[in-house]
Amino acid sequence: MANFYAQLDTVFTANQDTDCLRLLDRENWTYGDLQGHVGKIAGVLKAQGVAVGDRVAVQVEKSPENLALYLATLRIGAIYLPLNSGYTPAELDYFIGDAEPTLFVGATTRDDVTSLTLNADGTGSLTELTLGVDTPPIENLNGSDLAAILYTSGTTGRSKGAMLSHDNLASNASALSETWGWQNSDVLLHALPIFHVHGLFIASHCALLNGTPMIWLPKFDAAVVAEQLDGATVLMGVPTFYVRLLALPNFAKQSVAHMRVFICGSAPLTEQVFDEWEQVTGTRILERYGMSETIINTSNPLLGERVPATVGFPLPGLELRIANDHGQEVTTGDVGTIEVRGPNVFGGYWRMPEKTAEEIRPDGFFITGDLGTVDDAGRVSIVGRAKDLVISGGYNVYPKEVERLIDEIPGIVESAVIGVPHRDFGEGVVAVVVPEGEDVATEVVIRALEGQLAKFKQPKRVLNVAELPRNTMGKVQKNLLRDEYQGLFEG
Ligand code: AMP
Repeated sequence: MANFYAQLDTVFTANQDTDCLRLLDRENWTYGDLQGHVGKIAGVLKAQGVAVGDRVAVQVEKSPENLALYLATLRIGAIYLPLNSGYTPAELDYFIGDAEPTLFVGATTRDDVTSLTLNADGTGSLTELTLGVDTPPIENLNGSDLAAILYTSGTTGRSKGAMLSHDNLASNASALSETWGWQNSDVLLHALPIFHVHGLFIASHCALLNGTPMIWLPKFDAAVVAEQLDGATVLMGVPTFYVRLLALPNFAKQSVAHMRVFICGSAPLTEQVFDEWEQVTGTRILERYGMSETIINTSNPLLGERVPATVGFPLPGLELRIANDHGQEVTTGDVGTIEVRGPNVFGGYWRMPEKTAEEIRPDGFFITGDLGTVDDAGRVSIVGRAKDLVISGGYNVYPKEVERLIDEIPGIVESAVIGVPHRDFGEGVVAVVVPEGEDVATEVVIRALEGQLAKFKQPKRVLNVAELPRNTMGKVQKNLLRDEYQGLFEG
């Protein structure tokens, strides 16, 4: 059956008594437990009137029940729509308006849509309603039917919903499991959020597809993660994880003795951190490259050489080309836009046919917006982002969205938001502003943005300038600003 959940359900049945989620403050869940919760929550969704193709929007703290809610949505053929738990209610308005979900599950209810609650400890109206509910059958679907919509954004600032099908999820889960040599003895240390492609699909699917345990942490805390490494074999993280682990006073080789592989992605891992990690632990981090629209594209090899500052080779089944603006392949070694085609590539953006047509070529290649090179051996490196995106702590910050709000603050004429190197976050958000009169302090801007913008999007520093550098076409030259302020967070 093409419903991806059906494939997972078979694994759950075969591994009923195996630990699925190892929890620090609650009793563990076996695969039998997960399967039971998925069935019951699916029953609640049905009872709330959620039908095939309906959207279920979810903004909750990470919990075992949250994972079950995701799988229950797939089970009944509805579309899962995860939302960053840092988004403010005002930011949520756009997603709710655009996706028109049948049901919203959040920490609190909303007035504009049928809502249920789910708290970090698993309590809430969603789980209360599971009492006495029947488990509905697994919905029979086509592989091209939608499983999830992941909101991402472009330089235009309007968020786009990347539509992922059951086949997209299933094919990428199998490709990753094969590429990273998943074993029955593997234990995944899961410290990522599950409102993003990395924690929800990439990490969880490898474990779920193989019926192997996850140590399920509510959030990343370096000291807790270091403590748990002893019981794990695989860690998947963003570069910030590795920087913070290295900063722990007692972190050393014996801390990682039990580990099979450390995987990293979502933002560039610097050569410096890669080297430092190798010096301290004797292991080389395996870096890979992915995105909401395609899940994972490339990975450094499990067995071959892992080269720092490269993202490795295309996954099995994926075609990758480095192209010019017309989609024609450039000479090997030259920089161009990374374009990909394969079973993991999304079908388009939710209710945005023009955007979809702009970014997916008629021959099926998706224009990723990342600039890169491929060497003679086929190894891919990312050299920059065509998209004007800042990645701070693994989360995307779209400058336009921040600039728009800063420009509304009294006393500010205009602004340019950029990312500059930050050892802890990868990139730190910086706002360069042109004041009307007196300089505007960082605190003033942050206070004005509170309640309007998630914390990770707020600038860490505000710098005042007389005017923004512009090219002859009137475009702000952010590359000049980035160069000028690249050392801002150093020392
Ligand atoms: P998202 O859709 O939030 O997963 O963000 C996707 C973007 O993250 C990609 O288009 C890349 O620009 C960036 N990205 C992901 N992995 C890497 C990596 N290993 N190195 C550099 N950039 C990356």
